[in-house]
Amino acid sequence: MTPAARSAWLRTLGLTVVGLAITGALGVAVGQFWPVLALGAVAMLGWQHWRLGRVLHRLGGRRWPTLTAKPGAWSELDRLHDRDQRERRVRKRRLLEMLRAYRAAAAALPDAVVVVERNSQRIRWFNQAAATLLGLRYPADVGAPLVPRLRPLPLAQWLASGRHADTLEVASPVNPATRLSLRLIPYSENLWLLVARDVTRLLQLEQMRRDFVANVSHELRTPLTVIHGYLDMIDPDEHSGLAPVLGEMQRQSQRMARLVEDLLALSRLEAADGAPLEERVAMDAMLDTLRREGLALGQDRHRIRVENTADVDLWGSVTELHSAFSNLVANAVRHTPEGGEVLIRFRREDPRGDGQAGEPGGAVLEVIDSGIGIAAEHLPRITERFYRVSNSRSRTSGGTGLGLAIVKHVLQRHHARLEVRSRIGDGSMFSCHFTAARVRPRERDASHTAPSEAMP
Ligand code: ADP
Repeated sequence: MTPAARSAWLRTLGLTVVGLAITGALGVAVGQFWPVLALGAVAMLGWQHWRLGRVLHRLGGRRWPTLTAKPGAWSELDRLHDRDQRERRVRKRRLLEMLRAYRAAAAALPDAVVVVERNSQRIRWFNQAAATLLGLRYPADVGAPLVPRLRPLPLAQWLASGRHADTLEVASPVNPATRLSLRLIPYSENLWLLVARDVTRLLQLEQMRRDFVANVSHELRTPLTVIHGYLDMIDPDEHSGLAPVLGEMQRQSQRMARLVEDLLALSRLEAADGAPLEERVAMDAMLDTLRREGLALGQDRHRIRVENTADVDLWGSVTELHSAFSNLVANAVRHTPEGGEVLIRFRREDPRGDGQAGEPGGAVLEVIDSGIGIAAEHLPRITERFYRVSNSRSRTSGGTGLGLAIVKHVLQRHHARLEVRSRIGDGSMFSCHFTAARVRPRERDASHTAPSEAMP
């Protein structure tokens, strides 16, 4: 009890006692003690009830004048109630202001924001950008089911994956030239936020970058071939003083030619994104090709072993997979000292194998070397374009810095996963994990169409 409330209560108690004492004295004076006392008590009770009635009325929401002027518990109760009401009104106003500010901010966002009820998948609220980008109409679409309302967009399956949904890239239902990136954000038990961002400009810039790299690489190809041709025509014996210079020029022009070819290979992969990969990749023949190419690259100075226990073939693009696998074999040979060993192994996925979760029915191609290995801090970045553990070593060994980027891209296109394990001095293991969807029973008489691309 607050001090004010306690003193108010004591005052009321005091008034009651004094009132009863006065009525008692009056009763004694007129010789009717009990009747007068009873009358006084009834009057006081009646007064308290009247005050109680007024407070209850106010608590019931009626606006009666406040009785703060009069002392006593009822007045204090009334005053406290009044203060409580005022505080609540102020709090409510503040909350409303905050809510309005948040709504205004969400409404002003350039991204479309739609609040969706999770269970019913109905639209509860959306901002102005949702009207522009998704074509929603206010108020007609508030309460409308989201999937049928945005029918041209393939939302049903996407929403079904809920909190695990990846971003979805689609054309805007209002203007097919506008590309939207959709994200689903669960933000309470029952509500989802559907956010649609206009990524048209971003995709255009990305396309411009790809076109630029592809065009420059293409344009460099012819002059490089000419330079190469002329360098080949010069006989070092006739210009003995220039022999080291000519040798270096040849090496550098070959390096540039390899760079251009790798850049073109990456451009082709990016351009082919989404194109179907529907070829049988006969693995016996593929492994044989990889072994021969590895031996040729290492000039027979490494032991290259092939192991095939999978008894299946892969399904995808022969050229792309050959390019990826041969990059891994080339890396293994280049980063393994003479006399070292490279194992190219193709096996079925073992779900329990060495603690890694593998998909039942899948298959793995592994390239294992006994070479120099890679320090742990480099592993997360080695598939980035032009990332090299050691610049000088990569250049002298003929690397372009694009090999593993090509591998990653090819595997992504095949919905496969690259796993790298390595330790300095112990060698490296690059594993390409393919899901069951990319595995086919082996055809005994299938012959592997030798890919036209040379090994990098
Ligand atoms: P590069 O053409 O320079 O080899 P990659 O993209 O193929 O470029 O590889 C990136 C880097 O990863 C290489 O520079 C090399 O340092 C390292 N690397 C790749 N494979 C191996 C391997 N088998 N052993 C040791 N290091 C490797």
